Amino acid sequence: MRDNVGLDVNKVFEELGISDVLSQSGNLPVFSPADGKKLASVQMHTSAQCDAMMSDAEDAFKAWRIIPAPRRGELIRLLGEILREKKEALGALVSLENGKIFQEGLGEVQEMIDICDFAVGVSRQLYGLTIASERPGHKMREYWQPAGPVGVISAFNFPVAVWAWNTALAIVCGDPVIWKPSEKTPLTAIACQQMFLDACAKFGADAPENLSQLLIGEAEIGAQMVADKRMSVISATGSTAMGRKVAPIVAERFGKVILELGGNNAIIVAPSADLDLAFQAIVFGAVGTCGQRCTSTRRVFIHDDIYDALVPRIKKAYGGLSLGHPMAEGTLVGPLIDGMSFDLMETALDKVRTMGADITGGGRALVDEYPEAFYVNPAVVEMSGIADNVKEETFAPILYVFRYSDLEEAIERQNDVPQGLSSAIFTRDVLEAETFTAEAGSDCGIANVNIGTSGAEIGGAFGGEKETGGGRESGSDAWKGYMRRMTSTLNYSKELPLAQGIKFSVGE
Ligand code: NAD
Repeated sequence: MRDNVGLDVNKVFEELGISDVLSQSGNLPVFSPADGKKLASVQMHTSAQCDAMMSDAEDAFKAWRIIPAPRRGELIRLLGEILREKKEALGALVSLENGKIFQEGLGEVQEMIDICDFAVGVSRQLYGLTIASERPGHKMREYWQPAGPVGVISAFNFPVAVWAWNTALAIVCGDPVIWKPSEKTPLTAIACQQMFLDACAKFGADAPENLSQLLIGEAEIGAQMVADKRMSVISATGSTAMGRKVAPIVAERFGKVILELGGNNAIIVAPSADLDLAFQAIVFGAVGTCGQRCTSTRRVFIHDDIYDALVPRIKKAYGGLSLGHPMAEGTLVGPLIDGMSFDLMETALDKVRTMGADITGGGRALVDEYPEAFYVNPAVVEMSGIADNVKEETFAPILYVFRYSDLEEAIERQNDVPQGLSSAIFTRDVLEAETFTAEAGSDCGIANVNIGTSGAEIGGAFGGEKETGGGRESGSDAWKGYMRRMTSTLNYSKELPLAQGIKFSVGE
């Protein structure tokens, strides 16, 4: 076990500058999934406080939108610097509060640093087009303008990176942010908010008050923000069930929405695949973060010719996985977030068991050591048919394994689920690789070749289709989601020709 970070939670709080906040007691207890013990209790915001925050965000917007974008980028550069300094401490708090292993906690903070760097670059590249006008003496241009206050709703499983993806871009785009983190992970949110305030202090007076605000509470307070037309953009990350509620409410008031919802990700392993790579990718994708990534590998389609070479390796690896405290050196698989997740995993396994599936693993682990936590043995399920729950996302380490003989059929089966987030093929056959990423290939937002489904880089646009919600965050041109597009035609002639050659002479 590490003795310098992580286990002494007060020390972590101190390093993150949030000891004061956490010494207060509040009405939202926060438990560590690592041992089930209470870390702290924080105070939830009231509906009236939420209302005031939205008015404050409107005021902040008026001041921030007129600051030049490259100067706005400087604030995010400073945030990135602070994140570099606090990477270990924040990574440890992510581990303690969320249960992912320390390496992945550090990885999540690195992702925040990466998006800050990216957003600083974007702050000088909020490019619009110049467009050829059909009229003589006219020019057409496109401008991207700040959209307004952005409401960020995030899930427990990426407690800090999702905030950074949204906030780094929203801030350089000229928008203030109100963040409603998961009620299961408010401590890491308090730490991030403190870092943002520290960055503002270094930045100086150009940063208005309330540029970033933290809204602590459960679904109801999130719903209040979602319904309010002062919030120009709602970026919501979480389950499809949550998105199904949020989307129509934002649509009804004609707000902008970015939805990042559940996934049901698959890997196809073709006969020519490098089986060592495929093996590594499947096991990391399925058991990493204890199966609690939106991009976790949940299904794998293995060609008949290599099935017997690969599946026993996977099952053997599952037998030797090192489960344990997420801060312990060498742990590969930490706990599930809570007992509810464990029950969902059990229910899913029970269902396929009654269908005659062959299950390796499953069940609770480390009960004597951590009776109040929910460690589990990741499960491999071999099945011939398809049970309903294979089409659902069970947010736990269950890997459904299927055989296939024809690639077209495998792609069809891969796509035959309601979600469309991440997918991958392992093949050394260029025709197969190109087929997978062509029009009739994978229908997901992410389609990889010879790497697994999980672990995206920030440079690409991240998100998925169908019930994953259709939103895109992070790299590429995802920044456009935080801005409004303005088309401007300018007449520098002495005539007023109408578009499409329409004649309309008004006599005086
Ligand atoms: P969840 O849906 O239970 O909660 C997510 C957030 O939504 C929480 O902050 C919650 O308080 C809030 N919320 C719930 N109902 C709401 C409502 N009606 N109005 C406003 N806010 C509401 O999800 P979770 O259990 O925290 O996270 C796991 C889920 O998130 C999985 O389905 C996973 O795939 C998904 N996820 C998706 C992505 C992605 O980028 N696609 C990333 C991370 C997690």
